[in-house]
Amino acid sequence: MTISEKVAYLKGLAEGLNLDTEKSKEGKLISVMIGILEEVGLSIEDLEENAQALGEEIDVLSDDLADVESVVFEDEEEDEDEAEDYDDDWFEVECPTCEEPLIIDDKALADGFIQCPNCQSKFSLDLSDDTVEADEGEE
Ligand SMILES: [Zn+2]
Repeated sequence: MTISEKVAYLKGLAEGLNLDTEKSKEGKLISVMIGILEEVGLSIEDLEENAQALGEEIDVLSDDLADVESVVFEDEEEDEDEAEDYDDDWFEVECPTCEEPLIIDDKALADGFIQCPNCQSKFSLDLSDDTVEADEGEE
């Protein structure tokens, strides 16, 4: 039973008593009390409906936010990965021929070799065990 239904039941009981709500002070008191209970019951039902509607809206917003989070944080992770990859893959070795610093970057790794900008010697990059071995080219 809802509060309104209980109040309606109470109202029926009071009416069954045939209280004089005009001349009897007790009857008037009970009549006013039941009137207040009716208003309270309706107010609470409105509040419950609003609360339920808000809860459903929050659920929808929460789902939407989860979608946004998955997109935003996925992108962030990718950016971090790219930055880390760049940091990891960017390092410097000394040219064994002329001691010029050689930048080993993503492009050099992709090409599989690096050419010394100073003496033009080419070195192949062995990627098999994550280390770079600089072998002097035979060109
Ligand atoms: Zn060199």
